[in-house]
Amino acid sequence: MSEPNVPRKCPVDVAFKSQSGTAVALVCGSWNCPTCSKLLAREWARIAKYGVDHIGETAWFWTLTMSRKVKTREKAFEIMPTLWNSLRMAVQRASGLWLYIAFVEGQPHRAYMPHFHVLGSVPSWRDFAEIAVAAGFGYQAKEKPITSDGAAGYVSKYASKQGWDAPRGFRRVRASRKWPRPPDEPKDKYLVRSNSETLYGFLERVANTTHRDVGELYEDYRLTIGDPIDAAEWMQTNKIDNQLDEL
Ligand SMILES: [Zn+2]
Repeated sequence: MSEPNVPRKCPVDVAFKSQSGTAVALVCGSWNCPTCSKLLAREWARIAKYGVDHIGETAWFWTLTMSRKVKTREKAFEIMPTLWNSLRMAVQRASGLWLYIAFVEGQPHRAYMPHFHVLGSVPSWRDFAEIAVAAGFGYQAKEKPITSDGAAGYVSKYASKQGWDAPRGFRRVRASRKWPRPPDEPKDKYLVRSNSETLYGFLERVANTTHRDVGELYEDYRLTIGDPIDAAEWMQTNKIDNQLDEL
């Protein structure tokens, strides 16, 4: 499925779990979608917090900015993957295994020039600004130790901000494959409405499978369509896995 650049109305529809009958929002999973950017930020905050609790050492929060020589966002988005790779290789050369999650975010006071926030498992081995500049980033670079609550807080604060206008296909999140991940919850099958099915026909089918009352199912449907953030569970885990670096 291609990543839609134009936000569409989310959730697209509501499905039900076949065993429990719990309502689940079907969502587009794009950072450009106001609903899904909140869902993605929440999911990444959970992954960030879990990882910081499980890497077994202090986690470090890095901020890496664009050099003043970079004048436009277009240019910044173009060079960011290269700068990121330089940094990643430098850290791995200096430290061996590096576990990280990195987020690209716009700097509001610099016309939303994109910059990196990184949660990682190793501290700098020399002056951090020098490491940043050697990789092609700007001198404005910061490092501080963090707790798991701090990590979750940073991620939800930065990642859910609006004003995200990266080019199509740009990866907003990069994570090392070995970043500790929360265990997968047991998967249930989803009952999804077919194109030819009326809403009532669909809910009747769900009622027959789950032995839930049609009226209650309709109420859950309405709540989930209206408020997917609170009424639904996250079901786009494939979107998360697509963000992983090959490591
Ligand atoms: Zn969406």
